[in-house]
Amino acid sequence: MPEKKLNDLFYDMLKDIYFAERQILKSLPKLAKAAHSEELRNAFLKHRDETEGQVERLQQIFEMLGKRAQGKTCEAINGILEEGQEIIEEYKGSEALDAGLLAGGQAVEHYEMARYGTLKNWATQLGMADAANLLDETLQEEKKTDALLTQLAQSEVNRKAA
Ligand code: FE
Ligand code: FE
Ligand code: FE
Repeated sequence: MPEKKLNDLFYDMLKDIYFAERQILKSLPKLAKAAHSEELRNAFLKHRDETEGQVERLQQIFEMLGKRAQGKTCEAINGILEEGQEIIEEYKGSEALDAGLLAGGQAVEHYEMARYGTLKNWATQLGMADAANLLDETLQEEKKTDALLTQLAQSEVNRKAA
């Protein structure tokens, strides 16, 4: 078996996050629809639009590698999104629903932040400065979204759930 290198790892993880982003794109409208708070609904919808741009950035990076954009099943994101779906079903009509949705949203953003942080560093190590910049743009969006969700969690939404 030929030795696998950092560029193989980079390509594999790119496929992982590409799969994840497309699952997230499908999931965000469901989270928005379920949210009671208008602020939370708007936050999910805004991030849905950002996510479309994130998918495009990943496609640009596949192109830089001369590869077709393709996803590889990420069981981690499937599990996180499934938990969100469970909350929607189990807390339907409850004042605590939004607090649960916020927690689910934050788990998604943290997974993404971990992946984009790693991918950005690997891109730099591999001498792919343009890819590193694109990955950093997305990383900043994920961080901003996480911060917004934290802010919402600390204010209105959780007070109502108490
Ligand atoms: Fe994302
Ligand atoms: Fe994964
Ligand atoms: Fe995100």
